[in-house]
Amino acid sequence: MSSNIMIKIENVKKFYTKSHALNNVTVTMNAGEEYLIRGASGSGKSTLLYLLGGLERPTEGKVIVNQKDLSELNDEELALYRNRYVGFVFQFHFLLSSMNCLENILLPARLGGVYTDEVKERAISLAKLLQVEHCLEKFPYELSGGEQQRINIIRALSLKPKLLLCDEPTGNLDSENSQKVIQLLRSLAREFGATLVVVTHDPQIAQSFSNQLLMKDGVLVTQ
Ligand code: ADP
Ligand code: MG
Repeated sequence: MSSNIMIKIENVKKFYTKSHALNNVTVTMNAGEEYLIRGASGSGKSTLLYLLGGLERPTEGKVIVNQKDLSELNDEELALYRNRYVGFVFQFHFLLSSMNCLENILLPARLGGVYTDEVKERAISLAKLLQVEHCLEKFPYELSGGEQQRINIIRALSLKPKLLLCDEPTGNLDSENSQKVIQLLRSLAREFGATLVVVTHDPQIAQSFSNQLLMKDGVLVTQ
């Protein structure tokens, strides 16, 4: 896969047992651009991010990343795609309680066999920038929700992902830190040449994005 990521979602449907989460979504996302996804709760925003990031597979249709259909990848190849190319910032953070925050941040690098001193130095400098350096040696349960969220963001950025997927990334932050986090996500995405996809309800953040996608009942209604 070449370095910058271009995505085509073609006629994608995702059904769960009783309901459809996505009902025929088609969209193209250009490498290095920023996309904002809005929509009511339950409209399919998170599901769309999971499909982009290879965490879920579509029931029908295709998710094509740099001309490669993700459905042709087996589970191991899909895991490699996630590790090498995708950074996730979830609405609820998934820090492991058994290790300190620095180890949590470094986990993707260790799991992917790409840990270097540079990865660690980057983690520390991002922690300084987000004012959570004092948290690195602590365990997640010793941190506030906002601090945990910033550690989560640093972990997502640790391997310079080419696709950065953020699901309500500022949900736990006050407005000053929200602005800071969004600015950081945008400037780092630009620095890595990454495609940035953000789901948010925050109107102040939303209005500054040039590419706006609106989800309604599993359908993309505007682009
Ligand atoms: P949003 O992020 O916009 O709130 P989601 O993508 O989480 O929406 O959910 C879209 C729809 O799919 C909702 O109706 C939700 O209940 C359903 N859904 C999501 N995940 C699952 C799941 N794992 N099992 C069953 N239904 C699900
Ligand atoms: Mg959601």
